[in-house]
Amino acid sequence: MSIKIFIEYKAKLHGILVVKIDPRYTSQQCSKCGLLGERKRKVFKCSCGHVENAGVNASFVISLRHQGILQSSINRDIGEVHPACPTRIAA
Ligand SMILES: [Zn+2]
Repeated sequence: MSIKIFIEYKAKLHGILVVKIDPRYTSQQCSKCGLLGERKRKVFKCSCGHVENAGVNASFVISLRHQGILQSSINRDIGEVHPACPTRIAA
């Protein structure tokens, strides 16, 4: 049984919705500004100053992508124009 099927099976047993998101860069994207940061072992660091446990940061990225707040594609050119919030979608 694959991990995907196992997660869907367990979630269904407990009435939990499983949502699929684009997994690219989830461990490298900053959950605060959307830029690509640096991950060294368990610590994530971004040029915006955000520092967090890498797993926690990636979890927020996944959640924000699900909510449509953070895009999965990285556009560094946009980041140069507005580094504080380059890839977030206006709510
Ligand atoms: Zn950042």
